[in-house]
Amino acid sequence: MTIQNHKIPYVFLTSHAYSGSTLSSFLLGTHPEIATVGELKGPAYHLDLASYRCSCGNLFQECPFWLRVTDVVNRHGLNYALNQYLETSFELGGSNLARRLRTKSLRNNGLEHLRDSLVTAFWPGHRQAMKERLRRNEVFAQAILEVSGKSVFLDATKDPMRIRYLRASDRFDFFVIHLVRDVRGVVRSIMTRRPEMTVKQATRHWLQCEQNIKRHLAEVPAERQLFVRYEDLASDTLVTLNKIFSFLGLPHMQDLSNYRQVEYHIMGNKMRKLNNTEIRKDERWRTYFSESQLRTIHKLVNSGSN
Ligand SMILES: [Zn+2]
Repeated sequence: MTIQNHKIPYVFLTSHAYSGSTLSSFLLGTHPEIATVGELKGPAYHLDLASYRCSCGNLFQECPFWLRVTDVVNRHGLNYALNQYLETSFELGGSNLARRLRTKSLRNNGLEHLRDSLVTAFWPGHRQAMKERLRRNEVFAQAILEVSGKSVFLDATKDPMRIRYLRASDRFDFFVIHLVRDVRGVVRSIMTRRPEMTVKQATRHWLQCEQNIKRHLAEVPAERQLFVRYEDLASDTLVTLNKIFSFLGLPHMQDLSNYRQVEYHIMGNKMRKLNNTEIRKDERWRTYFSESQLRTIHKLVNSGSN
């Protein structure tokens, strides 16, 4: 039987940035039935495709895996070559304002429903363009499964707005994993990369993202979503992975011994180079913050969750 006749089991991993999503894709990708390329958006638009390297070490345009994916994608009727971007993002429109009006988060489900019907009614070609984007996601997911010979597709793009658009597909059997890392670790990571941000701002950034994830999850059936703590994955890796596999209806794994030998073709951030990646809890926040900074985080998170 070919995958084509079935719905594609599509697992979407959503989280704030710096929550361990790349490591999680590596770990989940060790399962013999799970295929992933990390974030299903391909190289970002500002990157030069000719010099971009796949996580396997090959140039993206010479990677045997991506060459085969391209063949299959073309066979499914999608015109694509490795000197093009994947165009799987649902952010449509040229300017930032146009993107915001048409497809970006409005931080409210009701407003987004209203916006979608208005834009569909009045923006020429919008419905068709969104359908085309969804189709590209369907074809790429299917091609990646066919080339890897696996049955479940994992997309670790994170952005919760994609939940809204992907779950509309009648080709997908849709699951969501909500990955959460200790807020103190995330706030430290944000501030290390963006020193201009205060503890308050960084915590609010996290809170806002988590609220966004939750409102999108409110529209996903409870049995189709799983909450996973990064710390559990880091400290009790196999047990936590097997919980995820149960949720997806997949057989358990007995050990993790092959995790560095698996072939990966991961897109996304620079963490995708596997040798930079290790399974650890990362508790550097313990010595990073002052007592009063920790109190600020605690206060904001507790008031934000009410
Ligand atoms: Zn590759």
